[in-house]
Amino acid sequence: MNRAFDVIIIGGGASGCSTAMQLSLRGRSVLVLDKAQFGSGSTGQAAGLGGQLRSNPSETRLLMEGIKVVREMERKLNQKIFTKTGSLHVAATEDRALELRDFVKSGKAIGFEIELVDREFAKSRLPCMQTDDLIEFCYCATDGHFAPSELLSGYMRIARDAGATLLSDTLVEDIMIEGGRVKGIQTADETFFAPVVVNAAGPWSYLVAELTQTPMAAATLGHYYLVTEPSSDVPIAPTDAAIRDRANRIYSRPEMGGVLVGSYEQEPVEYSMEALPEDFQMSEIRIQRDNLNVALLIEAASQRFPFINERTPMSV
Ligand SMILES: Cc1cc2nc3c(=O)[nH]c(=O)nc-3n(C[C@H](O)[C@H](O)[C@H](O)COP(=O)(O)OP(=O)(O)OC[C@H]3O[C@@H](n4cnc5c(N)ncnc54)[C@H](O)[C@@H]3O)c2cc1C
Repeated sequence: MNRAFDVIIIGGGASGCSTAMQLSLRGRSVLVLDKAQFGSGSTGQAAGLGGQLRSNPSETRLLMEGIKVVREMERKLNQKIFTKTGSLHVAATEDRALELRDFVKSGKAIGFEIELVDREFAKSRLPCMQTDDLIEFCYCATDGHFAPSELLSGYMRIARDAGATLLSDTLVEDIMIEGGRVKGIQTADETFFAPVVVNAAGPWSYLVAELTQTPMAAATLGHYYLVTEPSSDVPIAPTDAAIRDRANRIYSRPEMGGVLVGSYEQEPVEYSMEALPEDFQMSEIRIQRDNLNVALLIEAASQRFPFINERTPMSV
């Protein structure tokens, strides 16, 4: 096996694999290593929302480019990755309504498809949403969501086809530095060489940075979402709009006939990755229903979706 590459990437999540795809398509030889299965980190847990609107127009532009990249991947792979549903941003207060009106102005200025819409239109795009307390709505027609696993396998397939080497179950134990420059990495059994090493280790990235004695200001924060089971009483179509309800600190999108609702936690729990067992798998995390953040999520979700309460069949 080749041991010298142009670029070595530590971490096989969305960041590592998209970087590998882009570099391989530009003719670089790339090695990606993951200590477990590819996508087993935060990528495998993501809610998959693909919203583009940010208060900073440069970030909105970047996210608009991101959707174009995914559309190009779909053409290459002849496979659907992105579901376009449109998304509604909603305001219950005059301050937030002003913010939405500013969003519409700044979005339009950079060519982003965004409109103020009325309650009737908002209800038509998401009939199960309670709107009585809302005073302003804007609609981003090109937003939607991804299945994170399909997005990741798309990155991996294109990267592999373009020559990238992907190694799972291979922990990077050390980063070699000589004369102030990176030389490569070490695993338990092998040494690989490259003049560029990318730290794409997500929540573990501060531990990878420590391998080079470089302190990295990063925190790993817990995040929760719920997914309701489909119910004939509350039909939710796969193309119903996503919402972002900042005042209520929630977002939502349709998921398999139910609704996925996530929270923008006010006081997220911080995790210490080094304290977790070596064989820790994010997919094994089981969330207790009596967890305070979950209770707050259900309470906030029920304000926008009155059919949700603690007895609603759902997974968290
Ligand atoms: C519950 C939840 C919901 C989310 N919802 C959304 C959403 O709706 N929209 C959105 O855009 N984002 C969302 N996110 C955020 C998104 O998932 C992350 O930003 C993204 O997945 C990060 O990808 P990553 O590749 O940086 O990290 P990860 O996917 O965590 O990948 C890092 C990888 O590095 C590997 N690794 C670590 N250390 C080493 C080592 N020493 N050697 C080898 N491999 C190593 C790990 O095994 C892991 O696979 C959500 C996140 C969570 C947790």
